[in-house]
Amino acid sequence: DYGNRARLLAANKAAAEYFVSQLVRPEAEPARRFLGERGFDPAAAERFGVGFAPKSFDALSTHLRSLGFTEAELVTAGLLSTGERGGAYDRFRGRLVWPIRDVTGQTLGFGARRLLDDDKGPKYLNTPETPVYHKSQVLYGLDLAKRDISKGKQVVVVEGYTDVMACHLAGITTAVATCGTAFGVDHIKVVRRVLGDFDNADSTALGEVVFTFDPDEAGQKAASRAFAEEQRFAAQTFVAVAPDGLDPCDLRLTRGDEAVRLLISGKKPMFEFMIRRVLAEHDLDTVEGRVAALRAAAPVVAGIRDRALSTGYVRNLAGWLGVDPSEVSRAVSAAQ
Ligand code: ATP
Ligand code: MN
Ligand code: MN
Ligand code: MN
Repeated sequence: DYGNRARLLAANKAAAEYFVSQLVRPEAEPARRFLGERGFDPAAAERFGVGFAPKSFDALSTHLRSLGFTEAELVTAGLLSTGERGGAYDRFRGRLVWPIRDVTGQTLGFGARRLLDDDKGPKYLNTPETPVYHKSQVLYGLDLAKRDISKGKQVVVVEGYTDVMACHLAGITTAVATCGTAFGVDHIKVVRRVLGDFDNADSTALGEVVFTFDPDEAGQKAASRAFAEEQRFAAQTFVAVAPDGLDPCDLRLTRGDEAVRLLISGKKPMFEFMIRRVLAEHDLDTVEGRVAALRAAAPVVAGIRDRALSTGYVRNLAGWLGVDPSEVSRAVSAAQ
């Protein structure tokens, strides 16, 4: 119900303020060191609302209960976990914390990173599903990026919280990230709404979506799967992969802001990226290698439903392989 929702948002807001207040305390030294080593100064931390969750099972809940929130509300908000014997305790402990907000700036939940290698638990911990936090829909940074996304008709999707920060600081102020899950069809809907695309029939008015991925391919596969389901957006989908498999945060750290901007401006259309990735696995200097590459790449082209795009990629693939377009056409038909 609506009353409950307002209480959960209020609890998240109070928690975000509490985490920020803890970042200056002596025990938050590992958090400040982590930020510094990632190239983020105190002003950057403030801009993104980054905070610190103390290494305590009840510091946050004691504070929030003093503000009038009940244990049940804090459990429902995902701020407390419940143990096997029924007791509730602070979910985020000894972690750097990012507030995850909706487009209007309301805090819906948190992403939190482990700070010490000997700490237990996963490297990243997120708010679980709650009445206000749905991981399939949230995009970290959307509140900060929203205006420039709709103005510039471009959204940049990166993998992590630190990557969003690095992009924004480097001037890529349209960057957002999924939160502990792969990019899916629900995220496409959110992104399209902010781009103002809706069901606009005029394709020239549509914005573009640029993905950056780690080299591990899990994210790449998930995103191309999502866009395969929503093919009317495929022509506006691009991929940017950094040299040496660096993510935007590491890229900015080792090579500076300009390298991050070059990464994004060097984006490739998604289908071109997918085809070239297949080609890279074969030796195109031999006839055998080219035949195998054609057979492997044909299903990708066969999966392109837009007629004009598909025709264009038949021609391009023929060029990349140095074979006749009719030969590619035949292979694509066979793969259909
Ligand atoms: P860092 O730079 O902080 O060490 P990373 O770049 O090595 O992190 P990745 O493994 O690329 O981190 O993860 C990127 C994003 O994936 C994180 O921001 C987080 O949202 C999510 N993620 C990573 N590991 C986990 C996990 N164990 N549980 C949930 N989400 C995770
Ligand atoms: Mn990764
Ligand atoms: Mn990464
Ligand atoms: Mn990283």
